[in-house]
Amino acid sequence: MLKNQSYKSIRNRNLKKLGLLGGMSWESTQTYYQLINQGVNRQLGGLHSAEIILYSVDFAAIEKLQVAGEWEESGQLLARSAQRIQAAGADCVLICTNTMHKVASQVELSINIPLLHIADATAEVLVREGMKKVGLLGTAFTMEQDFYRERIQSKYGVAVIVPERSDRKKVHSIIFDELCKGDLREDSKKEYLRIIQSLSDRGAEAVILGCTEIGLLVTQDDIEVTLLDTTQIHAAKAVEFALS
Ligand code: GLU
Repeated sequence: MLKNQSYKSIRNRNLKKLGLLGGMSWESTQTYYQLINQGVNRQLGGLHSAEIILYSVDFAAIEKLQVAGEWEESGQLLARSAQRIQAAGADCVLICTNTMHKVASQVELSINIPLLHIADATAEVLVREGMKKVGLLGTAFTMEQDFYRERIQSKYGVAVIVPERSDRKKVHSIIFDELCKGDLREDSKKEYLRIIQSLSDRGAEAVILGCTEIGLLVTQDDIEVTLLDTTQIHAAKAVEFALS
């Protein structure tokens, strides 16, 4: 009886179930899993942890579609995965990558539960901090196409600048050739820090780490320029939702 009661009172905290659409890459999905559990535990204490439904895709298939520009097909693939997450009982979905938010609306339309958008979560921080101009690092897709930058610029009125062409190439190849494979190199870190500094020198008040693996290589301890790590921000949003 007592056991039942205490179980009930724990359940009554009513944690919402978080759906993670991960594996892009799994290196950063691990970080989401850790940050979300730590965040929930920080709020609730004891042995509390998050209720999570994770669907982790095979990233090779996604990357192939990215390179081929087959966004519609990759959107269908992610939409099917999101539907599975919903069918498993999740109360929301997070796409655990910035780049694949290119197909966020396709995913959103395929489900009836909310999608917590990574660019919105990030832009909310920018607005709260009163920032007007920021730098953005990410894959070439994220830095060069409209789906991410435009959303922040037009919806939130914050100007977004990106590195010069040759630096964009470097940032992109380090993500796919190293970070998504868990290969963290000192020389690549130096390159990232130089590029972040150059964005700050061009007037960026902060730099968005707009790729969920960058935080594995570079952290706020490495540089004075304010960094906005989208993995941390997105995970914090998930914790807020779980506890709401
Ligand atoms: N995780 C990365 C991002 O946040 C890159 C991997 C991908 O292309 O999805 O954009």
